[in-house]
Amino acid sequence: MANILNAQTQHPPVIKTDLAGQTLVTLRTLTEENPASLATYEKLGGYAQLKRLVAEKVKAPDIISQVKVSNLRGRGGAGFPTGLKWSFMPRYYDGTKYLVCNTDEGEPGTFKDRDIIRYNPHQLIEGMAIAAYTLGARVGYNYIHGEIWQDYEIFETALAEARAAGYLGENLFGSTFSFDLHAVHGYGAYICGEETALIESIEGKKGQPRFKPPFPASYGVFGKPTNVNNTESYASIPWIMQHGGQAFADLGVPNSGGSKLFSVSGHVEKPGNYEIKMGMPFKDLLEMAGGIWKGRKLKAVIPGGPSTAVMPASAIENATMDYDGLSKAGSSLGAGSMIVMDETTCMVKTLKRLSYFFYEESCGQCTPCREGTGWVYRIIERIVDGKGKMEDLDLLTDLSNNISGRTICALGDAAATPVLSFIKHFRPEFEYYIQHGKSMVDGK
Ligand code: SF4
Repeated sequence: MANILNAQTQHPPVIKTDLAGQTLVTLRTLTEENPASLATYEKLGGYAQLKRLVAEKVKAPDIISQVKVSNLRGRGGAGFPTGLKWSFMPRYYDGTKYLVCNTDEGEPGTFKDRDIIRYNPHQLIEGMAIAAYTLGARVGYNYIHGEIWQDYEIFETALAEARAAGYLGENLFGSTFSFDLHAVHGYGAYICGEETALIESIEGKKGQPRFKPPFPASYGVFGKPTNVNNTESYASIPWIMQHGGQAFADLGVPNSGGSKLFSVSGHVEKPGNYEIKMGMPFKDLLEMAGGIWKGRKLKAVIPGGPSTAVMPASAIENATMDYDGLSKAGSSLGAGSMIVMDETTCMVKTLKRLSYFFYEESCGQCTPCREGTGWVYRIIERIVDGKGKMEDLDLLTDLSNNISGRTICALGDAAATPVLSFIKHFRPEFEYYIQHGKSMVDGK
């Protein structure tokens, strides 16, 4: 692919931030002056693991076993064990196998993967090359969300550097292993973050999810075996290869290995990405992000992106930031996109905004999602306009329950989750809005 860079995008801005308390795995170049460059990555030992695995001809089952031990779970939101996923790829296949990276994060409050390609793209490239070596993939694609053009260009620079240095291409390090990696610029549709819609888009088709099965491991890009992982997942691999699966698992807690990037946004003093050990108490992460802004009180948190259930302050205050911790507290980790809301937030208006997002982003293939998301949005809009009826709350619940589990992809469930959880935890606010035609919180 042509190098489309201009001078301004050759080097991302230097980070000046307080990294205290963080555990930098996928963003380990952040402390350096020029974090995205090949020279910086090599200085920190970059590409040494790829070279070692290829030179020592380490066998695929041994690499997969380390990834399984690491307890790395898919960082895109589903949390599926990465090592197990890798074991689904057919070992022997008479044709081209593919590797795909999902950098198509598009859910509100989700902005971690863009920082990996912006500040540490070579670690992602090395992670993908190790995965390709392990799984026998000859060609890879990194599908990058359409709204982050500058980061796409930074990744293209890194690809060019890696090719020139002999980390990508034919017969790497004099071996029989060859791997070409390409960046694909998406068009900004949220649904292309769903792995089969993403594959359709790579093939040049309309980005709509496929029926599963078959799964990508047997029928992926161009109908060939394909492994799809999230950006943060691939970027964790070089660290796991360097330090061992157990060391990665030990960073976290049982069932949630490693460190994890949390995108913290909303009503905090210092919004941004924080890479922390899995299992850190929510209170510590909130403190790292500067606490609730303007000295206000915490009202609610969406811990993993709008497709995860909202939690009132009382439910999250003593929770830990890991899969089991958030599940026990009544929600889920998702992609680690934590949206913090203070006491001045109107939950009815917030739900209206979130419902519009899912309505707007539905691809329209399945009736429950296409019709249901619009119906849900219009009912909430009616309530906000002061024309709601008390029975609307039961109707919203019934509608959401009838979308969930009845669609081709998870967007249906994702659209239903905020509606059900907002009404469950903040029903009095919805009832007040319907009775008085205005918000209980801001009086408007
Ligand atoms: Fe498309 Fe929605 Fe069906 Fe997913 S659930 S395939 S987004 S219509």
